[in-house]
Amino acid sequence: MKEEVQQLIDVQELDQKILAARRKRSELLTRKEKLEAQAEKLEKVVSAIQEQIDEVQQDISSLNQDLAKVQDSVTKAEDRLPEVKTQKEYLAILKEVDAAKKNVKDIEEALKLKQQVVDELKADQNDKLSELDELNNANDSQLKDIDTLVAELEKIDATETPKRDKLIAQVPEVLRKRYELVLNHLNSAALVEAKNYTCTGCYMRLPPQFYNNMLKSKKISTCPQCNRLLYIEEA
Ligand SMILES: [Zn+2]
Repeated sequence: MKEEVQQLIDVQELDQKILAARRKRSELLTRKEKLEAQAEKLEKVVSAIQEQIDEVQQDISSLNQDLAKVQDSVTKAEDRLPEVKTQKEYLAILKEVDAAKKNVKDIEEALKLKQQVVDELKADQNDKLSELDELNNANDSQLKDIDTLVAELEKIDATETPKRDKLIAQVPEVLRKRYELVLNHLNSAALVEAKNYTCTGCYMRLPPQFYNNMLKSKKISTCPQCNRLLYIEEA
């Protein structure tokens, strides 16, 4: 019995070390995800702005094509003027030229507005890019630390788990199954001392008869309250 308890205590020591490493690792990975999500969010904002810029640039390029066409039509109309025969024809061409020139003005105005939009979007994008830069700089060392710690914790898991498996293989099967059931259920110490009529896992007072039986039998028992395995330290 004393040997069994000692074996389980040794197993438990390793289990707690492994569990703590796994818990810490998962906390760190959650932290890492959060840090990366912040940057991803900003990156998305930056590319959304880029999409807007591209759209307006397309508008600008098609406006420029329109402008070239209208300017061309002005030139062509004006070139026809010297060959004009009648006053009516002359006036018609002038009217055409005026309309085209007005059109040029309108397009130039629209281009100016579009260019303003592009400038504003680019300024906004630059702000977000420097924000992203700052964030990446601030996160960089944190992320590196996290990676180092995670690697250390994984190493603990990788070296301690085989030791633990080897140790627990020596524990009688029934006891091992009971221990693992409670461990998996509670995710904390599954084997605790019963001391002064109390379970040191849940701190419930144990029935005196139950405790006295434990003292007599020297067997590992189960706490009626928390189901942890109980043992009494032998004097
Ligand atoms: Zn208990």
